Amino acid sequence: MPNKLPSSEAVATTPEPAAAPRKIYDVVKYGDPVLEKPTRLVPKFDAEIEELAEDMFATMYAAQGVGLAAPQIGKSIRLAVVDVTSGKNPEARIVLANPEIIHAEGEKREEEGCLSIPGFRGYVVRPQFVTVKAQNAKGEWFEIRGEDLLARAFCHEIDHLNGILFLTHLSMLKRDLIKRKIKKLRKQGEW
Ligand SMILES: [Zn+2]
Repeated sequence: MPNKLPSSEAVATTPEPAAAPRKIYDVVKYGDPVLEKPTRLVPKFDAEIEELAEDMFATMYAAQGVGLAAPQIGKSIRLAVVDVTSGKNPEARIVLANPEIIHAEGEKREEEGCLSIPGFRGYVVRPQFVTVKAQNAKGEWFEIRGEDLLARAFCHEIDHLNGILFLTHLSMLKRDLIKRKIKKLRKQGEW
């Protein structure tokens, strides 16, 4: 094995730029008022926002989600991250700052869940296609079109920024059932 030493040393002296350690936030759960209040615009784009977006990706991957909105980590600003490949494709990482849906088309009914409402899912009708206009973490405006799961993720996250949870889109019966179960879990100290 000694003949392997030089090469591993060479690797050690010319390392790839290491990724900065990321902060993994606790995801705020249903019941916290921050989830149900509209957020304010991202006021300025600086290193802090870029760092925050990276930490949100890390938090989202840790929680095995495909989207995360700032209110879900207790920050009431119009910032969300989406990656429907769950980190498999770096090019699929989308930062949505101050996003708006500018076009929606079609309808699709699929089961949906939320990192802030763990353990509960429900069928929600969303547009099949949406076009979103947003700023990236540097403040540059762009437009992106999403289909199916990506369209759903855009709608779900932008809802979050408006203080709306997917429960709102369920039938009253289903919504009340979930709320009752959460209440019970809370009483048992499990929420
Ligand atoms: Zn959610």
